[in-house]
Amino acid sequence: MTSSISERITTICASLPPSVRLIAVSKTFSSEVIRTAYNAGIRDFGENRIQEAASKQAELHDLADITWHFIGHLQSNKAKKAIELFDWIHSVDNLKLAQRLNQLAQQLEVSPHVCLQVKILPDPHKSGWSVPELLADLPALNQCKNLQIQGLMTIPPVGLNNAEIINVFKNTHKLAKEIQEQNWSHIKMQELSMGMSGDYQLAVQAGATMVRLGTILFGERT
Ligand SMILES: *Cc1c(COP(=O)(O)O)cnc(C)c1O
Repeated sequence: MTSSISERITTICASLPPSVRLIAVSKTFSSEVIRTAYNAGIRDFGENRIQEAASKQAELHDLADITWHFIGHLQSNKAKKAIELFDWIHSVDNLKLAQRLNQLAQQLEVSPHVCLQVKILPDPHKSGWSVPELLADLPALNQCKNLQIQGLMTIPPVGLNNAEIINVFKNTHKLAKEIQEQNWSHIKMQELSMGMSGDYQLAVQAGATMVRLGTILFGERT
């Protein structure tokens, strides 16, 4: 890529519908790179490792209006740090983790925004609820009153063609609607976190409200 980060940000922001929130996935990139993206207008950043995020956040503490999104697999022993460092956790992938986060949120007197990670198709390489598992866990999730459950997150398995990918995204959207129609008191389904550099246009077509873009903004990770 020969264009600069700020040029790429401008182009991609202009191509997204205004209803779609761009999460710039800055994992592996330095705090200077994040600062460049901030100066180009980005306020939402995604990270997938707690330690890495903690040190970058310390270096960027002067940028007080950044919203930090955790997008990686979260181990239970890092749940407390995650709540302290992040406003959003997109990758809540099982009931035990949700309950642990809920308990910690109560103790810390915060109410993090979370998405529930769902696997529309079986995928041994990813964590997340299957659709039947998620539907079965909704009553218990509805008890997690210190979490602001905002919607679903999904990542299609690798190796699908575009038609199959868009089906994954459409089925995620459909599932969110079904859950919303059940009218849970503490589960909202207004957000769909789906779409990465290779497939975000398909995700947007299927109703994504948050896209998580790394490579297309910052270049290849090494
Ligand atoms: C790394 C990562 C992204 C960004 O991926 P790109 O293909 O670089 O855009 C998005 N979502 C998750 C969960 C990730 O781990």
